[in-house]
Amino acid sequence: MEYRELGKTGLVVSRLCFGALTIGPLQRQLSPAEGGAVISRAFAQGVNFLDTAELYGTYPHVREALKSCRKPEEMIIATKSYAYSREGMAESLEKARREMDLDVIPIFLLHEQESRHTLRGHRPALDYLLDAKAKGVVRAVGISTHFVDAVWAAGEIQEIDVISPLINVTGIGIQGGTRDEMLEAIAYAAQQGKGVYAMKPLGGGHLLSSWREALEFCLSRDELASIAVGMKSIEEVDHNVSFFRGERHIANPGNGHRKLHVDDWCVGCASCVTACPNSALDIVDGRAQVVNAESCVFCGYCGASCPEFAIKVI
Ligand code: SF4
Ligand code: SF4
Repeated sequence: MEYRELGKTGLVVSRLCFGALTIGPLQRQLSPAEGGAVISRAFAQGVNFLDTAELYGTYPHVREALKSCRKPEEMIIATKSYAYSREGMAESLEKARREMDLDVIPIFLLHEQESRHTLRGHRPALDYLLDAKAKGVVRAVGISTHFVDAVWAAGEIQEIDVISPLINVTGIGIQGGTRDEMLEAIAYAAQQGKGVYAMKPLGGGHLLSSWREALEFCLSRDELASIAVGMKSIEEVDHNVSFFRGERHIANPGNGHRKLHVDDWCVGCASCVTACPNSALDIVDGRAQVVNAESCVFCGYCGASCPEFAIKVI
């Protein structure tokens, strides 16, 4: 496994990052023990970097994996929260520490920033994280984003250490610009010393039919210190670890087909339509429906917003 320095954070991360959205309640719905076993498999094979979020509901899974880890303090866990106030971020940070049983959170990000305006609105939460970093409770702070402008904006903010942007070979899911415009913003951020790690290299599953090309595209970008790949089974972990170790003659894992399912009890409240960052949903005949399947990156944000638990990635 190759390791890279994550910007100027002092953290050295495996090029393969375990994307933990896929194992949790928004997607495969593995139990903490089952999900923990999948993460443990990755840790045992040299993956030392994991990306999760308060939204994903996977802190118990991460905790299980860390329990069976010989040196849990050496695992680099990145998490994120939508909190925008000091009080909200204080709660999010304590929840992460408590539920993952960690004294120190290696990386804490502002989740899903859209622009320099949303960054300004989240400044109190960022300031709270910076205070926590000064006290040694957090080691690095930053943002995750699907938006080109947010990468530029975060690149300009001196206190930001880490950026996790959406980037993939076709540009699916990128907001506010093209793939190449996102690459330009990423290059700028990396030049400013930010540690950059990619999310959605496989477009949330859309690029599985061309997974080699999709992963090679991200691996060939030096400005990407690491690449977060969602994994939900031991087989997928083994496959991705092999590929990231340089084995190129391996078969397609073949079990990545995903779709969005809307249950009969959907009440048509449109909360999911509003939550979708990619305009993939609308209300048709009183129920949520995917109206733009090509745009859906299976992020699960719609499911997280549904008061009826009626929409999910399966
Ligand atoms: S949020 Fe849930 S109940 Fe509301 S429209 Fe979407 S799927 Fe239906
Ligand atoms: S439809 Fe749901 S899973 Fe698909 S992009 Fe929108 S929020 Fe994400």
